[in-house]
Amino acid sequence: MDHQHGRLLVVGGTHGNERTAPWILQCWEAQPALFASPLPTTNCIGNPEAYGANRRYMDRDLNRCFTEALLRDRNCTVREVSRARELVDTYGPNGKNPHSLVLDLHTTTAAMGSSVVVCGERPVDLALAALVHQAIGIPIYLFRINEEHPEECGFLVRRWPCGLVLEVGPVAQGIVDMGTVRKTAACLESVLAVLGDCLRSKAKLPESVVVHRHLASLDWPRDGDGRRIAGLHPDRSQWDWTVLLPGDPLFLMETGETIAYQGEEPVWPVFCNEASYEEKGIALSLTQREIKTPPADGLEALLALLGS
Ligand SMILES: [Zn+2]
Repeated sequence: MDHQHGRLLVVGGTHGNERTAPWILQCWEAQPALFASPLPTTNCIGNPEAYGANRRYMDRDLNRCFTEALLRDRNCTVREVSRARELVDTYGPNGKNPHSLVLDLHTTTAAMGSSVVVCGERPVDLALAALVHQAIGIPIYLFRINEEHPEECGFLVRRWPCGLVLEVGPVAQGIVDMGTVRKTAACLESVLAVLGDCLRSKAKLPESVVVHRHLASLDWPRDGDGRRIAGLHPDRSQWDWTVLLPGDPLFLMETGETIAYQGEEPVWPVFCNEASYEEKGIALSLTQREIKTPPADGLEALLALLGS
């Protein structure tokens, strides 16, 4: 039996122009008592080169590079693929300095507030997300992994046995906004407190949680040349996390015409006006609300990873 505690990896700057988390890690280094982690914890900058250049990435989105195929392809010269491999070889569960849990701290330009993103549906991730949700009430976004689509797989957190993404917004790219720093720090503190509860056998899953399950992403309406010809409709004061009903105004076109939402079911939009999704052809994503029972086996798996 292995009685060692699990180790936690905290990553900021997976996207080099999201400067909030690297700033928090810098403060944590300058003030070691800033956060009390109940586990041996390592901090790292996900994409140091892109962070130095204040760009999302150099060659390719690092947070889409962690697929088995890319990590295996030793001939690939994409800088982010090499960096992904380096992170896995160093801190991955079978790396030189193995870690069992990862927290990947991001920001968004969308006015989503704080949320926790679960990539895929591993019970262990769902259990940790449910405990964090219970502690500070932030919404849970369940992102579906689609190995067939390069934009919907290859997430960093999937290379560790347990991993969550924290997303905090709205904040512009390339700046450190202290309000966003505080919100992100509060989320980080909450995750650390939850892990502490787990280690003291005090963690109890809520009976149910509301989750937002990813359904689809919508691109902007475009003309024949691919030029964007609409914006999000101004008649909705709050886009993210608020219900969009069939027939509700969705886009306002360059012509002044309103395009209504055509779906058949109510949906809850997220990542509305995320600046970095322009290149991915995503204007917003749509989610479905569900009530889910957090998996008890997920909590067991989490406790086993923590070595408690
Ligand atoms: Zn990001």
